[in-house]
Amino acid sequence: MTRNSRYDVLFEPVQIGPVVARNRFYQVPHCAGMGHLRPKTAAAMRGMKAEGGWAVVSTEECDVHYTSDIAPYSEQRLWDDADIPQHALMVDAVHEHGSLAACELAHSGGQASNHYSRTAALAPSPIAVEGFGTINARGMTKRDIREMRRIYRRAAKRAQAIGYDIIYVYAGHMLTLPTQFLSRRTNQRTDEYGGSLPNRVRFMKEMILDAKEAVGDTCAIAVRIMLDELMGSDGLQCDEEGIEIVSLLAELPDIWDVNVSDWSNDSATSRFQPEGFQEPFIHRVKQVTTKPVVGVGRFTSPDTMVSQIRRGVLDMIGAARPSIADPFLPKKIEEGRLEDIRECIGCNICVSGDYTITPLRCTQNPTMGEEWRRGWHPEIIPSAKNQDSVLIVGAGPAGLECAVSLGKRGHKVTLVDSKKEFGGRVSRESRLPGLSAWSRVRDYRLQQLQHLVNVDLYPASALNADDIFEFGAQRVVLATGAKWRRDGIGQELSFSVPGTDRTSVFTADDILDGAELNGHVVVYDDNHFYMGGVIAEKLRQQGASVSLVTPAADVSHSTHFTLEQHAIQKRLLKLGISIHTCRSLNAVHDGGVEIQCVYTGDSQALECDSVVLVTAQLANDSLYQEIMIDRSRFSEQSVRSADCIGDCFVPGTIAAAVYSGHQWARQLGEPTDEREVPFLREMPAIWAVLLFSWFRVSESAGQLVHRHHWSKRLESKVDISRLTHDWSSSWTL
Ligand code: ADP
Ligand code: SF4
Repeated sequence: MTRNSRYDVLFEPVQIGPVVARNRFYQVPHCAGMGHLRPKTAAAMRGMKAEGGWAVVSTEECDVHYTSDIAPYSEQRLWDDADIPQHALMVDAVHEHGSLAACELAHSGGQASNHYSRTAALAPSPIAVEGFGTINARGMTKRDIREMRRIYRRAAKRAQAIGYDIIYVYAGHMLTLPTQFLSRRTNQRTDEYGGSLPNRVRFMKEMILDAKEAVGDTCAIAVRIMLDELMGSDGLQCDEEGIEIVSLLAELPDIWDVNVSDWSNDSATSRFQPEGFQEPFIHRVKQVTTKPVVGVGRFTSPDTMVSQIRRGVLDMIGAARPSIADPFLPKKIEEGRLEDIRECIGCNICVSGDYTITPLRCTQNPTMGEEWRRGWHPEIIPSAKNQDSVLIVGAGPAGLECAVSLGKRGHKVTLVDSKKEFGGRVSRESRLPGLSAWSRVRDYRLQQLQHLVNVDLYPASALNADDIFEFGAQRVVLATGAKWRRDGIGQELSFSVPGTDRTSVFTADDILDGAELNGHVVVYDDNHFYMGGVIAEKLRQQGASVSLVTPAADVSHSTHFTLEQHAIQKRLLKLGISIHTCRSLNAVHDGGVEIQCVYTGDSQALECDSVVLVTAQLANDSLYQEIMIDRSRFSEQSVRSADCIGDCFVPGTIAAAVYSGHQWARQLGEPTDEREVPFLREMPAIWAVLLFSWFRVSESAGQLVHRHHWSKRLESKVDISRLTHDWSSSWTL
């Protein structure tokens, strides 16, 4: 296939200071839950982006010093030379595919917990630090400022020596030190670093100039800056000071990377913001600088990207989430394969990896985070190792993903669903307020299935155990999903709630299936993720008066992990939904419920016409149980196995269902994994000690530390592949 010429502009090279990006696709810095604890995982993931055509691939926040210790989170570090080898892995992986590697040097200033380093946090003025216990940041002296500039210069030099092509001064979110100097909230200084805007900009200006002087001969200097904090006059506003700051520094950096703050605004979910939502802020930047500008907006449509370039909003298409959902997005546009783009759905499951300090996962891309530890490639799947035919019952995210992956491997597959519409929970949930983009999970897979002649699709076909045995497939996969509990058992309550068998009691499934409730409805949320809040929103939109009761301290509590909690609670309050937090459900009566305080046990009556339970889920595995009871028929009918996947195996997120379907498809016909742990693990302590001691030996031997040869030289010293693939043998190295 050839690409449409209207997309040619996306593949023009861009000069960024002393380096050239081969096209306009720029993976901006994003957290990955990998960081300094999992360097090989991170290197393989970033390398995949380069292979997929991103001209620039950035690290996440990379802390320049131990005074910027953000433990327990695992971002990157360049505290001293011991951190160098980890970075070399990533830089080499990115360079291998002809892309530029960017390092987001950062100092968290007054937002650093310093739990690990046990040193004082530093800020322009004394401020309280968010974290455990009473922690305050110390206001920096002039000497501290001078020392901080030296620290930055040293880190920039190290980044240059490693081979990075672009080096950042990071002021993108409220977290960082330069931003704390910019903001009136955190900078109350009365010297030349505080007060007027030029004074508050001074520290940042010095950092940019320092970086340019230190490494500007070979490296481009990027500035990531927030333009607006979206908190009105309490924060930085684009029209007031945001654009003025860019004007004051306009020609100093080699590229501007611009966004809105804080992270929840920058990475807003599709429930709250559409593609390109940052344009009202970022379009101003090109009017005040001649330097290239990169910005984000969850771009997945090539037409939107071209429009941004043609209208002079941006020079480079920045992406974090779209590059996670589809690391090959640029290649697919380049090759004219637009229908193959796996579009980000804007759900922020990826963000939860950072908050849980576990490798990034993605709803759309099950291979994300598995590039190194399982060797999964997002576009390549090994061909079938046998001729087994597969019957998949259930075409939700698990069944669809399984069918696509098996189909690509070359198996003969039949995908059946009792419903006329494929997609399972994704089809139902995407009809909830704000969640329409989630249908992309279904649509991408249905699109892929169109080209797979070896996959037959049968909608509107409910199967029972006899049907399955008679069908005669060698492998049976049950992807029949899950249902919401009707008894009130959830995270807080372990026993069924009296009265939940009344006809006035509904579950999330009933609402998803179209039940419309009038009068006053109590939504009882003991699930705490998005479902309780969004069901309340839907019922309110339909005209019901709604009370949301939850044992948690706030609405949809787990959506803190997807950066949405604040926006959800705000929306529900604005809709007039009455919210009862820290309350569990005691009983359902005629005309009302009894709820009780989770602390005191004091109970309270709440009148209502109906109750909707959003609590725990149960697997729809009765069909599987039936088949297993009848397993003597397996050999009669040549059935070799029957397995559950997705929510039918264990109810969870859509991301988990997709992953489960993908994993099952990858494993079919492969040799049984005999390892106790079926994936590779990084052993940071052993790894770091070996590399660090080698580094010291090399250094004392006077060897030249040359930026492009780190990994090669490491390989000649120790067999990295053996360390990687069989860590136990590393003891003998
Ligand atoms: P998952 O998230 O694990 O993919 P879903 O609940 O989204 O699960 O999808 C399960 C799908 O299975 C639904 O579309 C449902 O209609 C279908 N299904 C359930 N039982 C049967 C059955 N006996 N025969 C055919 N399809 C079924
Ligand atoms: Fe997009 Fe969701 Fe994947 Fe994150 S997890 S990249 S938001 S699809």
